[in-house]
Amino acid sequence: YENKEEFLNSVARLPFQGDASNSIFLASIGDFSNWSRLASLWPLLYGTSCCFIEFASLIGSRFDFDRYGLVPRSSPRQADLIVTAGTITMKMAPSLVRLYEQMPEPKYVIAMGACTITGGMFSTDSYSTVRGVDKLIPVDIHLPGCPPKPEAIIDAVTKLRKKIAQESFEERTFRPTRTKYPNLSSP
Ligand code: SF4
Repeated sequence: YENKEEFLNSVARLPFQGDASNSIFLASIGDFSNWSRLASLWPLLYGTSCCFIEFASLIGSRFDFDRYGLVPRSSPRQADLIVTAGTITMKMAPSLVRLYEQMPEPKYVIAMGACTITGGMFSTDSYSTVRGVDKLIPVDIHLPGCPPKPEAIIDAVTKLRKKIAQESFEERTFRPTRTKYPNLSSP
């Protein structure tokens, strides 16, 4: 810890207050757990349209996504991060919710691109597009753009890593699991 205030804040976040030795011990365990998770986020490959082209470029040697510990996975059972890259259609929505529910806790979501965040160019006069993926699953980081550049995706991941580093035991254990199967008649 860089200063006493930071240390005391860390202790105050612990679930078992009143016993200092337990608190310090649990703080160390919690910090280690946070550190290990933020250094090995495994994203589920999930691309529905053009935003995914930018995401895919991260996997190549130029941006070398793996150096952040991000190893793309094809199975939701092996992933703890989903970057929703592209337009979410009403037909795709139940599949997205199902994939999210199959990921083990704790899990995180980055909403990538205007289409995912608001519906983008389909936000008006479209009968088929979900206008905001946060209507379906809880979003940790919103990444605007059309499309966001690979550097912006790295920045979003860095912000998510900082968020994970500060997670308390309660936040880590009792994360919101809001998921909602869409009403197909009203995007
Ligand atoms: Fe394509 Fe732009 Fe929508 Fe991304 S935000 S899916 S680049 S139209």
